[in-house]
Amino acid sequence: MIDGLAGIKSGKGTVVFVCSKCRVVPDNALGAQNKGELVYMLICSKCGAALAEWDTIEAREKELREFAKKVELLA
Ligand SMILES: [Zn+2]
Repeated sequence: MIDGLAGIKSGKGTVVFVCSKCRVVPDNALGAQNKGELVYMLICSKCGAALAEWDTIEAREKELREFAKKVELLA
């Protein structure tokens, strides 16, 4: 689940994911769901918003790959 991530183009043409509000690169973090299962999260280091959340690393890599193709790029 991705909510609040945007992209900027780096100098090399690759897409870097940032918080859509702060334009800050988020931190990887571990969170816990209600049942106590660990989830992988991206947390904005400035505003503290949870920008994305996945059950597994595999799900994270897959969704980020797809997301990179359609993400809104900030100027
Ligand atoms: Zn933010």
